[in-house]
Amino acid sequence: MLFLMATKRRTPPPAPSNRRAKPARSGTATKKPAARRAKAAQAKSRSGVPGLRVGHGYDLHRLEVRAPAGPGRPLIVGGVILDDPLFDRGPVAHSDGDVLYHAVTDALLGALALPDIGQLFPDTSPAHAGQDSSDFVRAAYSEISSRGWSIVNLDCTVILQRPKLSPVKDKIRANLAKLLRLDLASVNLKGKTHEKVDAVGESRAIEAHVVALLWKR
Ligand SMILES: [Zn+2]
Repeated sequence: MLFLMATKRRTPPPAPSNRRAKPARSGTATKKPAARRAKAAQAKSRSGVPGLRVGHGYDLHRLEVRAPAGPGRPLIVGGVILDDPLFDRGPVAHSDGDVLYHAVTDALLGALALPDIGQLFPDTSPAHAGQDSSDFVRAAYSEISSRGWSIVNLDCTVILQRPKLSPVKDKIRANLAKLLRLDLASVNLKGKTHEKVDAVGESRAIEAHVVALLWKR
């Protein structure tokens, strides 16, 4: 302490000039290390951030009168056929037209910035005509899994005016949980109407949004 005090008393004259001289001489030099440190910290935080990625999937299908009277397919959502005798419309699609499975597929692929469902499974390819869309979900799961990623949870919203989704919600959640090896509690599904307005509200279309959170194993 004494030594420090003594040196403090002695050092003031040269010290300010030294202290000032250094920043003055290396004004840009002091910024450079700081900038470098900030950059390094940023890089560190980027690599050190917990491995989390979020993905969003969206899909829409036009609804038309079901075959044989029209081009509509059976109305299938999350692997469940909504067979309402009072509702005669179904999706127009190259595959089976499962709007929810398509949105789930894109959410998973999107989280890792991978090519989307349309790029991986072109709707011009005869190979995918009438294809069971659970195959797309499995393929997306395989893509993320092979890269070391797992799913934390899914939050899904299906928007359709008719029929009601509530009677089959649990079945759809169970299908997704099984396909993606998740607990039921990690798969949420909300069914909404479109208040009878616009194409969805007039039962001319069906939509789905899905948000998926992934974590790096
Ligand atoms: Zn689709």
